[in-house]
Amino acid sequence: MPFARPSIEAFETPLRTQYAERYLEKEGVLNDVLRVKAPKAKLRDALMVHSPYLIDTVRIMTEIGSGELGEASYASPDLMRAALRAVGGAMKSAELVVAGESEHAFSLMRPPGHHATSSDPMGLCYFNNLAIATRHIMKDEDVNKVSILDFDDHHGNGTSEIFYADANVQFISIHEYDYDNFGLGYFTEVGYGDAKGTNINIPLMETSPNASYETALEKVIRPAIRRFAPDIIMVSAGFDAHYADPVGNMDVDSRVFWRFGKFVRDMVHKLKAMGSVWILEGGYNPFALGQSIRASLEGLAGKHPPKLDDQIEREVFPEITEANVEIIDKVLETIDPFW
Ligand SMILES: [Zn+2]
Repeated sequence: MPFARPSIEAFETPLRTQYAERYLEKEGVLNDVLRVKAPKAKLRDALMVHSPYLIDTVRIMTEIGSGELGEASYASPDLMRAALRAVGGAMKSAELVVAGESEHAFSLMRPPGHHATSSDPMGLCYFNNLAIATRHIMKDEDVNKVSILDFDDHHGNGTSEIFYADANVQFISIHEYDYDNFGLGYFTEVGYGDAKGTNINIPLMETSPNASYETALEKVIRPAIRRFAPDIIMVSAGFDAHYADPVGNMDVDSRVFWRFGKFVRDMVHKLKAMGSVWILEGGYNPFALGQSIRASLEGLAGKHPPKLDDQIEREVFPEITEANVEIIDKVLETIDPFW
């Protein structure tokens, strides 16, 4: 994107991944990982998920070099190149895990993808990186069932739409929900046809703290993935629920992201799954993003939770945690008939 630094209109910038990578390098986190350069995907890869219309829109708007493709998704002269490389990073990560070269992979790439539907770019997303990587590995005869865990601050509406009628793909999204303007992401969206029960939304209140995420993880996400028993776990890893994020309005810190890492590691072992593939989505405070990714990676690597600067005690609002307990109970009531 043609913006030099984060601002109120332009927070999805190169600084995000540059700073996060620098931080991970400096803290020694990258010493323990195999680093692989993301290849550029082909246009036909995007066709596994997207309409030709969407692909043409990205192409034409890249040629124009400015303007808006959809709600809050902007064009730049390098858009197509960057978008295809983000897809390539997601596909390559998934390939490495399926080939057994790595048990877990993390794609530190942008632009994000989980808001892009089959036909519409939106919300800083153009191609749905995770959905394309998922379809790509499902061509492998050993990959029959995939669970997608989306913990980005926002509802993964694009991924949800793409797999809404696919009984072999479980989609679980935990997100901030706007209870003043009921929109997509409510728990009544359970999937379609044979896929009923495979779409699980956990719509939490604004300003939800660590405790609400931990409750949802134990009461909904853990049993849901255990029952579905996927061959592989895909993670839409957005870190904009961090309290320091300029876009999300939640109140969690890196301890929650460590917990997600540890949870996915344990689940992969318990289910004897191939592994997990993490695709970066949101996370717009470059300083918080590095620490959040580090916490996730250390959880995923089976390390103790790291003590990080962002882990400060903050005011607790019992009305929020209590409302979330009720929401989580309603989620369970809604999906129970399908279990
Ligand atoms: Zn987000």
